[in-house]
Amino acid sequence: MPRPAIDLFKKTFGTTPRAAASAPGRVNLIGEHTDYNGGPVLPIAIAQRTTVAVGPGAPGDASVLEAVSTQFSGVARVKWQEELPKGWVAYVGGVLRELWSLEAVPFDGSVRIAVASDVPIGAGLSSSAALAVATAKALAPSLNPRQIAGVAFRAEHDHVGVRCGVMDQTIAALGKRDHALLFECASLEATQIPFDARLLLVDTGKRHDLSAGGLNQRRAECEEAVKRLKVELPELLWLASWPAEWLPRLKRALREPLRARAVHVVSETARTRFAAQLLQQRRLKQFGKLLYESHESCRRLYDCSSPELDTVVAAAKRAGALGARLTGAGWGGAAIVLVNKTDKKTIPAIQRAYERAYGRSAPITEVKPSAGAHTERV
Ligand code: ADP
Ligand code: MG
Repeated sequence: MPRPAIDLFKKTFGTTPRAAASAPGRVNLIGEHTDYNGGPVLPIAIAQRTTVAVGPGAPGDASVLEAVSTQFSGVARVKWQEELPKGWVAYVGGVLRELWSLEAVPFDGSVRIAVASDVPIGAGLSSSAALAVATAKALAPSLNPRQIAGVAFRAEHDHVGVRCGVMDQTIAALGKRDHALLFECASLEATQIPFDARLLLVDTGKRHDLSAGGLNQRRAECEEAVKRLKVELPELLWLASWPAEWLPRLKRALREPLRARAVHVVSETARTRFAAQLLQQRRLKQFGKLLYESHESCRRLYDCSSPELDTVVAAAKRAGALGARLTGAGWGGAAIVLVNKTDKKTIPAIQRAYERAYGRSAPITEVKPSAGAHTERV
């Protein structure tokens, strides 16, 4: 739905935008905390999207960015080459700087943008990558999806300063309707896998602002684990590259908590590749089992679940769902639940369990794998 962004552009700047593009949020099916460890992930792009409408700034306004979003008040105005904008506009400034290095900034560097979105912010659905990817696509539609993902990743990682992996931007740029994407974060190899299953998203309502601290700590632990494991295997670059059949050796080499973190990453890596094979063969029951195993590993070994997420997963399991697990970094946010197409028990069972435990409801929606970034008609 490009309309809200286009209308906001007209209302704010009094002119019609020249171009627009949209990009989706994402849900990761399996492969949690593997991305920054050089392992595989298996995300899908979701139906919720962020749309960005763009046009040239006022004549003579060199390198000025004016930006507005339905999610934030006010119009930001900043000389983006001289300073990185603050707050949400930093994502846009980062994209402009990256496009500049590719000589791909339009309108002589003077840009107006308007953003509208139905991707909830901070709910673990990657609204930040949707914003950066949609901005890059709207400003430089001739770049290919890989280039768009690269620009958006560097904008968020290098300019905004978020220690994210490449998964979010890659799925937002490369996503395909009715497909999941097996993405190897070290080799950047990407494989589209048909996904025709009924998937529920349960929002625990617990926002993950607290996760930044936990995530940074986990990243530091993984780096430390690699440093120690290099004594055993000097050519080891990524934790996820440690051979799964050498787990006993890994366990001997590391102490807790590094041991538990590393066992999660190495086993989750093998699990994710196996899960992609099962999905390819449409063996949903076995695929679902791996979702439960992944959750258990996140909970016990990586210590990144939360009581709310555990309540949802346990209720899903009791109701006979095929699989369930937290998705996104964890410590709150959302869980996914895989169910049979005819299943009628799981949704009410989760709702009952959640209300009993927390005295409030957890919104449940169905997710459909949708298209990645594309331009929109203005
Ligand atoms: P998420 O898990 O949703 O990606 P992040 O903390 O990584 O959470 O990113 C959220 C940030 O991305 C917001 O605080 C804001 O700076 C930016 N953002 C996301 N969507 C929008 C939007 N529609 N308009 C403006 N800024 C946005
Ligand atoms: Mg994000």
